Amino acid sequence: MSQRQTTTAGAPVPTNETSKTAGPRGPVLLEDYQLIEKLAHQNRERIPERTVHAKGWGLQGTFTVTNDITKYTRAKIFSEVGKKTEVLSRWSTVAGEAGAADAERDVRGFSLKFYTEEGNWDMVGNNTPVFFVRDAYKFPDFIRTQKRHPKTNLRSPEAMFDFWAGQPESVHQVTILMSDRGIPQNPTHMNGYGSHTFSMWNHEGTRYWVKFHFKTHQGHDYYTNEKAKELIGQTRESYQEDLWNMIEAGKHPKWTLKIQVMEEEQAASLDFNPFDVTKVWPHKDFPLIEVGELEMHTVPENYFQLVENAAYSPSNVVPGIGFSPDKMLQARVWSYADAHRYRLGTHYEALPANAPKAASVAHYHKDGAMRFFQNDTGNSNAYYEPNQYEDAPRPDPSVMEPPLKIDPEAYRYPQETEEVDFVQPRALYKDVLTDDERVRLHQNMAGAMAPCSDSVKERWYAVLERVHPDYAKGVREAVESAPALPVTDDTPVKAAE
Ligand code: NDP
Repeated sequence: MSQRQTTTAGAPVPTNETSKTAGPRGPVLLEDYQLIEKLAHQNRERIPERTVHAKGWGLQGTFTVTNDITKYTRAKIFSEVGKKTEVLSRWSTVAGEAGAADAERDVRGFSLKFYTEEGNWDMVGNNTPVFFVRDAYKFPDFIRTQKRHPKTNLRSPEAMFDFWAGQPESVHQVTILMSDRGIPQNPTHMNGYGSHTFSMWNHEGTRYWVKFHFKTHQGHDYYTNEKAKELIGQTRESYQEDLWNMIEAGKHPKWTLKIQVMEEEQAASLDFNPFDVTKVWPHKDFPLIEVGELEMHTVPENYFQLVENAAYSPSNVVPGIGFSPDKMLQARVWSYADAHRYRLGTHYEALPANAPKAASVAHYHKDGAMRFFQNDTGNSNAYYEPNQYEDAPRPDPSVMEPPLKIDPEAYRYPQETEEVDFVQPRALYKDVLTDDERVRLHQNMAGAMAPCSDSVKERWYAVLERVHPDYAKGVREAVESAPALPVTDDTPVKAAE
């Protein structure tokens, strides 16, 4: 039996098709509130699009601990082997708008919300272990180069490569982006990396520096530029379709969570800065330690409610997991939560996607727009702190993070590019990639930079030269052997492929 349709105030409605009019030919009466409500809601169906990571796909799943890491962390999520925690994922492309095609070359966001007993832990990562810039001061400029040119309203390879050439440490991330991993066949065919250095601390108050890696079980299947172009001509929603079909067919994608661990004091003695997000930690020095398995098994019942409204922020850590001095992370801790307050409102953490499921919420924040939930302290007199009421919420000093030694000299330290910035991209180019992969890297990069002006091309070849002469030569030859494109010196004319 069907339900009775109502207004938002719960009153039954007699029709959902016919306006109230003066006579059969109209006009429409202003008192037809049901019509007004319907149109007004339609006008408000969209919320601000995320400035970055606008196009996304999500699943619900479960994380299971498979190995004991309690010597590194007191986080309850890892408290015993076999322990299960509910998870909400959101994968995304970075630069494209909400309607962008899924199979475009771009970095992918890889975000996980773990609904733990001590609050939500958000792993807000990417499918790359490094990032383009290491100081958030440069972040808005970087993102601007990925978005549309103010005059042409087109994506601008000129802007992208101009910025990267002026910011040579970005070559590590650009190399990964232009490699086969730049177009995964769908989100199940990619690793997730926390990218930043995070920390863990145990019951004894010992802190460790940590990197998070989610290793795909599905393999790194990718699309070439040609295949992606063909696919996008058939469907712009290939990721959503793949995820839907996979779950409908009972196939549950999986990842193994592994961590790299560094002793707190060790950070000072390395030949690179372990808090620089343009660097990885070499596996041979910091071997991967297995932690658990992530299995995603359910398509959310309502995309908007759980995936669009999902608000991931690196600020969401739990006792036993913490931040590090990484300058980009420090800025993201603030800016992601702020972006959500703008996009979803003051109380975004109370929405179903974001509200803790295994932990209770008891804070003294008050009121504001859309305070639709009950977060009373349990005592209507206890709306401030300190107070005299025994049943009021109290801080728990046992979850205090251990103290962190920091450099006492505050300054705007220069971030010049150094030889050490090319060591890891060189290892990737020379030692990790196969001959075939290097050829495709050259071609992919050549395709992306072909529309750029000669001055930008030359500056970028100079960066590649510092990684490896074969890299510069390979890309230059691929650019020069490609058909000529109509370009002017400074006007971006063609989207990156
Ligand atoms: P390893 O040989 O132990 O690791 C190489 C890593 O490269 C593996 O993790 C592999 O990932 C990954 N890889 C393979 N192909 C690509 C690609 N096209 N794009 C990005 N990553 C790829 O050596 P090191 O730890 O010393 O690292 C060497 C270089 O590999 C680094 O400088 C860095 O550029 C890159 N790398 C390193 C990672 C790290 O955390 N140490 C992580 C990812 C890349 P998989 O295991 O999934 O096959």
